[in-house]
Amino acid sequence: MALIVQKYGGTSVGTTERIQQVAKKVAKWRSQGHDLVIVVSAMSGETNRLMTLANEISHRPLARELDVLLSTGEQVTIALLTMALLELGLDAKSYTGAQVHIRTDDVHCKARITEIDHRKIRDDLANGRIVVVAGFQGADEHGNITTLGRGGSDTTAVALAAALTADECQIYTDVDGVYTTDPRVVPEARRLKSVTYEEMLEMASLGAKVLQIRSVEFASKYSVPLRVLSSFEDGEGTLITSEEESMEQALISGIAFNKDEAKLTVVGVPDQPGVAHRILGPVGRANIEVDMIIQNVGDNNTTDFTFTVHRNDYEKAEEILQEVAKELGAKQVTGDEKIVKLSLVGVGMRSHAGIASTMFETLANEAINIKMISTSEIKISVVIEEKYLELGVRALHSAFNLEDSKKQQ
Ligand code: ADP
Ligand code: ASP
Ligand code: MG
Repeated sequence: MALIVQKYGGTSVGTTERIQQVAKKVAKWRSQGHDLVIVVSAMSGETNRLMTLANEISHRPLARELDVLLSTGEQVTIALLTMALLELGLDAKSYTGAQVHIRTDDVHCKARITEIDHRKIRDDLANGRIVVVAGFQGADEHGNITTLGRGGSDTTAVALAAALTADECQIYTDVDGVYTTDPRVVPEARRLKSVTYEEMLEMASLGAKVLQIRSVEFASKYSVPLRVLSSFEDGEGTLITSEEESMEQALISGIAFNKDEAKLTVVGVPDQPGVAHRILGPVGRANIEVDMIIQNVGDNNTTDFTFTVHRNDYEKAEEILQEVAKELGAKQVTGDEKIVKLSLVGVGMRSHAGIASTMFETLANEAINIKMISTSEIKISVVIEEKYLELGVRALHSAFNLEDSKKQQ
């Protein structure tokens, strides 16, 4: 008998029929004698729908009120799933995040979990009850409702698993595991049996939205065995675990991509000490996160300074840069919103040279121009034109032999 935390995503609870299916699945696990804590997302599309409503009322809705609104999506599904479980004759009870004391900081819309008082959950489990908890939400120290950022139910599940020292945290979704790349873009993608926390963290950070980044951080920090599985078919899914325990020691584990970035360049900046700070300082103060940065040495003691930001921050960043450029006496500010970042990830890279050159050669053979490059021990990222995304991913997927041989003609 084990203590298992299971999370069911939006598509898995997208209709009342699907909620009943989830209830049956939970009942099956229960019949094996396991203690179960179930975390659910809002029904698919619901969080977006609520966002649209807010935007119809206000151009910039107050984050506190947005959290009050968005958290209702998950409140609907906990009640419906609990009703479905009760209908099957199981004992179950639903709770919002605040009710089970998921305490967060007060950063509305992207709050971090700071503490969980799990006594209530333990009592229920001890009484043979299935506990159903709303994902994506908590409350700050003053009782204000907070939400954890898009995809945050994953983090609720892992945080609960860590707090309860659960035997496993299972993330049920609409794909049957973590793949070498998004299977919706490359149908030949292969499911990974296991992947390390570190690789999964890179993949999530670099755009693979199958798990929220913070959920992987949590799992790694507290060594929570995490598994991604399909809600709709049986299978062993993908285990996310430590490097020692990982079964696959592939050179490249996967290819991630991110379509949410935009690139900005300050052209012709005087090449002096302090320039990077004078450009990025005001950007940081406006709460705009900067991702890749490159600085080229140009002619006549001037330099071009390029960096990427989230596309939502593009206009704001450009406005700031126009001001900065004037102050610095730079030539001009240019930008490009139609870019994507494509990344190769794998712990095997640490001990292998030549991966970067294969990557660059592959892209060159497809006549894809690389605009920026950044590397770390276990990843190589390039920025390319958005229109080449699929071509680039497919070419790299095949160059590094990541295909599922069974899916190839
Ligand atoms: P849920 O609603 O269950 O949380 P998400 O939509 O957040 O589901 O995450 C699952 C989706 O992640 C898949 O449908 C798939 O398109 C996408 N995805 C992106 N990269 C990968 C990858 N490497 N492996 C598997 N799925 C991926
Ligand atoms: N419902 C939230 C979202 O759509 C949280 C989640 O599904 O994990 O982002
Ligand atoms: Mg998700």
